[in-house]
Amino acid sequence: MAGFSFLRRSLIAPSADGMVAPLRFDSALAVPIDSPDELASMTPGFVHPLSTQFNVQALAARLCPVLLSDQSVAIFALAEHVGSDQADELARQIVKLGYVLANPPRYVLAAPLLLAIARNQVTAQSLSGHAGQRLAQSTTALADAFNDMVEWGVRNSASDLHLNLRLNEPESEVKYTLSGRYLSPERFRRMPTSMLVDMLSVAWMDISGGNGALFDPTIEQQGSMTRLVDGQEIMLRWASLAADHGPSVCLRLLRREVDASLPSLDQLGYLPDQVALIERVMLSEGGAIVFAGTVGSGKSTTLASLIAGVAPSRKVITIEDPVEYLIPEAIQNTVARSLDAAAHQNYAAKLRALKRSAMSDVLLGEVRDAETGLAFMDLAGSGVSVYTTVHAPSARLIPERLASGFIGVPRDFLATPGILKLLVFQALLPVLCRHCALPAQRLAEAGGQAGPVARSVQQWRSWLHLIQDLYACPVEAFRIRNPMGCSACQRPHLPELNGYAGRTVVAETIEPALQPEFLHSLWRGGCASEHMAIRSAMECAVFKASRGQIDPRDIEQRFHSFETERCLRDLQGVKKQSTPMLRAAS
Ligand SMILES: [Zn+2]
Repeated sequence: MAGFSFLRRSLIAPSADGMVAPLRFDSALAVPIDSPDELASMTPGFVHPLSTQFNVQALAARLCPVLLSDQSVAIFALAEHVGSDQADELARQIVKLGYVLANPPRYVLAAPLLLAIARNQVTAQSLSGHAGQRLAQSTTALADAFNDMVEWGVRNSASDLHLNLRLNEPESEVKYTLSGRYLSPERFRRMPTSMLVDMLSVAWMDISGGNGALFDPTIEQQGSMTRLVDGQEIMLRWASLAADHGPSVCLRLLRREVDASLPSLDQLGYLPDQVALIERVMLSEGGAIVFAGTVGSGKSTTLASLIAGVAPSRKVITIEDPVEYLIPEAIQNTVARSLDAAAHQNYAAKLRALKRSAMSDVLLGEVRDAETGLAFMDLAGSGVSVYTTVHAPSARLIPERLASGFIGVPRDFLATPGILKLLVFQALLPVLCRHCALPAQRLAEAGGQAGPVARSVQQWRSWLHLIQDLYACPVEAFRIRNPMGCSACQRPHLPELNGYAGRTVVAETIEPALQPEFLHSLWRGGCASEHMAIRSAMECAVFKASRGQIDPRDIEQRFHSFETERCLRDLQGVKKQSTPMLRAAS
């Protein structure tokens, strides 16, 4: 960070005499170094990199200051960066800090070799060693660069790593999903495209169950691999999209957690009455508990936590793609659900064996197509307890999703009493740092942003009134995120997450047995009534906001705006004064 800021600052600042120093470098004068052999034979000789001393580690994939044997300092760079403003500024800094600029001052290297040097993997000693080892070094550097990205993601609790390559541009984008947000840490913000292509090609060699022996930027590829990070086994699920400008590779980082780290429902953010409901429903055998939510909403974690709580007197079997949590006592099965015929046969064989396994509880990873829909019917109809997930935007719409043409579970099956035991929809919202969150009233005094949109003080004032009106709760207790953060919540290089401390579940539940109207509407073939008296996940979020835990602006981003909520209520003719939960809370 500091390295970048000095570069930026001095690029626009004139020098002491008020003139901008004429340090423009003609890229044609840069000397190419094409191989470790050429590096070994250069004079004066290469000694070691100085990225740390110049605080430009973040630039290491493009530019690297190096010490030469005559104590002068040269700049090693990629061809497209050797004449850049940043290289010019680095040259100025070298002189400013009292070093002698080498002659010639700049060299052009290929990405793998530059990276290996910047990472201290090529030393003067290794260069004088025997030549055979040198060949392997660029591959090692690329594998290390890949591992570095994975490790950074794991250590910062990212759920996904995204490499969006633009083959016709010198640099491409590396992003992470952190706390549900799509962010680019400064360290990986712009990476040389050629290096990323080489790096992905090297990384793909470790893929198992993938389509294709080589990484191919022009087709969709899937597969998985495991990595050990800080003693923890991480599974990477690779999915690449052949987009117009180049491959977009998404790597999901799946931690194989042991039971000790499985959080309780309460720790996940379920409210006490929701925990009590889920536990009550779990007491009886048979029927299905179905969780809905978007990708990354934490459904798998909740399911694993639930299953870990099943009494040891019950036999639990899981079918997952892949197994994400190691659940004690459960018999877990990974069944890859890829598109080829062999995968379908495996799945069918697994199910046939499952039905002869005399289990009482089954975790069926996800119901997402006709094949898994049939498995769901088979199991739920046979009297075992089934726990599963679907993609649906609310608890009310779970049966709609199951009955859709795509999955095809008949409505009359779903409407049979006892089949759908509990429907849960959950979402994850960021939790405000309790040390530095600000009163929401601040918006009505100083204005502020709502996502990309700035609102006036007057607009914020009516916004706060609207929330108060809709939910009958005093807004004095509402708090908002402090974008400056504090020592408790700041994360290096991730200012976007300042003011937050983890995430919490907000959920809605439907127990069909207690909502006869719900089952009736399923019988009739219609959609479950929108007037049903359930507390929505959005209301659950507002409740948490009334406790100062969630920024109400994040609720609008996740669900819909409070203005939309007002329109929806007008449309439905529902004049809710307040929800049972909010009444109980106030
Ligand atoms: Zn804080």
